[in-house]
Amino acid sequence: MAKELAIFGGEPVRTEPFPGYNVIGQKEIDAATAVMESGVLSRYLGTWHEDFLGGPKVRLLEEKWAQMFDVAHSVSMNSATSGLYAACAAAGFGPDDEVIVSPYTMSASAVAPVVNGATPVFCDIDPDSWCLCPTALERLINAKTKGIIVVHIFGGSADMDAIMSLAQKHKLTVIEDCAQAPLGECNGRKVGSIGHMGVFSLNYHKHIHCGEGGVVVTNSDELAQRLRLVRNHSEAVVDRMPTHIDEKLSGIVGYNFRLGEIEAAITLSLLDRLPALIEERIENVHFLEKKLRDIPFLTMPEVREGDTHCYYLHPLKFDQKVAGVDREQYVAAVKAELTPSELRMHEGVLIGAGYVRPLYKQSFYRSKMHPVIQGASEQAETTYLDQSCPNCEEAHYSTVITHELMRPGMSENDLDDVASAFLKVAENIKDLVK
Ligand SMILES: *Cc1c(COP(=O)(O)O)cnc(C)c1O
Repeated sequence: MAKELAIFGGEPVRTEPFPGYNVIGQKEIDAATAVMESGVLSRYLGTWHEDFLGGPKVRLLEEKWAQMFDVAHSVSMNSATSGLYAACAAAGFGPDDEVIVSPYTMSASAVAPVVNGATPVFCDIDPDSWCLCPTALERLINAKTKGIIVVHIFGGSADMDAIMSLAQKHKLTVIEDCAQAPLGECNGRKVGSIGHMGVFSLNYHKHIHCGEGGVVVTNSDELAQRLRLVRNHSEAVVDRMPTHIDEKLSGIVGYNFRLGEIEAAITLSLLDRLPALIEERIENVHFLEKKLRDIPFLTMPEVREGDTHCYYLHPLKFDQKVAGVDREQYVAAVKAELTPSELRMHEGVLIGAGYVRPLYKQSFYRSKMHPVIQGASEQAETTYLDQSCPNCEEAHYSTVITHELMRPGMSENDLDDVASAFLKVAENIKDLVK
């Protein structure tokens, strides 16, 4: 049925704002208040003492997190960025080491090796999962390669079986960036527990949040100890440790990456709800996909047998040849049919053409001002060029559409409006060819 598109002045599908995604309720307010009333907002001491491991909320959070995520240890941090820096330090990445990383991610995943003096080497992604492509990865492994940073982008998982078998063969340390995939699963196992370390985020945009925070998980006692030292002033702590001091521990630089008690209490309060919040995202996505599947130029994300996608974003694949218009035109027209969400009005309608720019496009890697980048091997430098990751280029510049309009709190009516906007523009796509 022909209808005037809102982008050309027609009546939009929806003018009422969508509900904001807000996980903070009375329970979290009470949890934060109780910490305030105790007067102990952090109990860390940067020395060898029982308070080296933080206060009661931090410790309880770490215990519960480890149980829920099927790991031996969890080490809280003040952000996932800090967690990634700490994980690279704990892995021992340093000068002359190369670390293979996806270019299709938030910038901290790739800068974490740089902070530790190591060189990031960008590897192309798989065109269906948008995570590291194992075949491309294998080609980049050489004698300098020490590790891999896998990113489970949008909440879907990388092919961990293939990646771990390469890592075992070449003795590489694998860090999983799970900031977008809490409780995601790959072949029946929780992401973060498959590699040597997994890093989670508790920032405002993530599934659950405490403002700013992060958690690193590991099954290795040794890595857990190193992570705790990096988090809390290692150099001031090691000499007093009762166990025989390992030379390697003495060389660790410590930071202050400590999470506060208020943030830990808020996260603890939200943790029980995490499975249900993810379930709701999955249900909302299924509801939407039933309708969006009818659009011939859109492909729904592939979820392999045994995997659980936790939909940080809902990624769609756009086929320009079938649509007859480019992705930007389609997305602009869909956005014109809708209206922003409460709490995030200023960001506009939460639908994006592409995701973040491939990281090697950042001037940081191109101007080579940083000594590590400046001294990068020829192989690393090649991966900073535009032609080296064609799947990533294609995903970002022509095929990927992401949206956040499946977050918990959306009613069936809200979801119907989202689907109607995508469908209305698809049905009238010829009007965009002008
Ligand atoms: C959000 C995010 C981070 C960083 O998380 P912070 O807690 O904000 O530091 C890292 N990697 C990915 C993939 C992310 O989405």
